[in-house]
Amino acid sequence: MIVVDVVLLAADSGSGNTVLLVVVVVVVLGWLVSLVLHPWTACSACKGSPRHFGSVASKSFRLCSACGGSGRQLRFGARMFRGE
Ligand SMILES: [Zn+2]
Repeated sequence: MIVVDVVLLAADSGSGNTVLLVVVVVVVLGWLVSLVLHPWTACSACKGSPRHFGSVASKSFRLCSACGGSGRQLRFGARMFRGE
């Protein structure tokens, strides 16, 4: 596994810069795995509640224009895993 190899390499060299690089690589890999497992987040415009109810006709609503009513948006970077 690449991560284990990189960590072992860093342990051998003992360089401070290499350890920092390994930490960055591990964090980035964790972020990429997170993007694959959970590519969606709540829409930033409506916070995941896409129905905007009227104040007069309280049962009527319109849908959030940013997410089209889904209440979700792709996380930053998740698009590269979706072939879009
Ligand atoms: Zn929205």
